[in-house]
Amino acid sequence: MLRPETPESLKLAQTLLRDGALVAFATETVYGLGADATKGEAVAGIYAAKGRPSFNPLIAHFADAQSAFAVVEADERAARLAAAFWPGPLTLVLRRAAYCPIASLAGAGLPTQAVRVPQVSDGFRSVLRAFPGGIVAPSANPSGKLSPTTAQHVQAGLGEAVDLIIDGGPCAAGLESAVVDLSGPQPKLLRHGALAQADIEGVMGQKLALDVDPAVKASPGQMVQHYAPSKPLFLNASTAKADQAALVFSDSNGFEQACALEVLSPSGSDVEAAARLFSALHRLDASSARAIVVGEMPVGGLGAAIVDRLRRAAAGRGE
Ligand code: AMP
Ligand code: MG
Repeated sequence: MLRPETPESLKLAQTLLRDGALVAFATETVYGLGADATKGEAVAGIYAAKGRPSFNPLIAHFADAQSAFAVVEADERAARLAAAFWPGPLTLVLRRAAYCPIASLAGAGLPTQAVRVPQVSDGFRSVLRAFPGGIVAPSANPSGKLSPTTAQHVQAGLGEAVDLIIDGGPCAAGLESAVVDLSGPQPKLLRHGALAQADIEGVMGQKLALDVDPAVKASPGQMVQHYAPSKPLFLNASTAKADQAALVFSDSNGFEQACALEVLSPSGSDVEAAARLFSALHRLDASSARAIVVGEMPVGGLGAAIVDRLRRAAAGRGE
């Protein structure tokens, strides 16, 4: 059931989550499919609803850094990043606290737990506050498919598998969080995301080791194909045919023949392009085109995250 965000729907969200049900909600990154992190059965419900092939570890979301750091062993590096970027699109992987209340299924049995304080509405922050043990929330889409940046995407992708979808409008950043592993001495970037690597390194005062699985390793692992539209997708195109849809960064020269066209940022902003990436792909996927061709994407800032998502969308079908 899809509801606008009102005091009533937020109250219902809290009750449903308390009962172990699944509630989809807006964050600045993408829509999350939330469950009470402390309830193993509710967490299992997420894997079932998404059709996740394996129990990938989930990110637990909190109202504030204090609650997040109550369930993990946060050090000075974590505190500094949290002060700089939370609430925001940064996930920290830390060792679980001795008495971590989060269901072990949420962490896939690992000794670590991923935590984040997202940007959400004031209303939904109150809901988060009611769950000091966290709300686990992967993206609210069927596993492997395009991430949802509107409530309607969630409805179309998961439908009745979600007990309640709260419509909080389109997501501002539109791209998943950057994931940084602080569980060992060497900080590692595990996933490019809506916060640029250079910004994270600036606050840490050191370089992140890159462990961006698997785009960098380039091995055909099972998660290579991800964030995928249903049409074949081809990267690094410079032209489009009449039966193709085109996705370009800012310059549509050469793509005039495309039967559908999305320009991510006419002004050439990587942030705007990231915010519009998934919604543009959703529209092109719904067009009559046979395939989607993608022009050259930006290199700096959020370009790495944009290219990462597009590579995975193309894996196994296009380039
Ligand atoms: P999502 O499905 O968008 O919520 O993605 C969660 C991301 O966080 C995935 O890339 C996971 O591999 C990563 N992640 C979550 N928990 C952990 C963990 N404990 N250790 C390493 N990576 C994690
Ligand atoms: Mg996802």
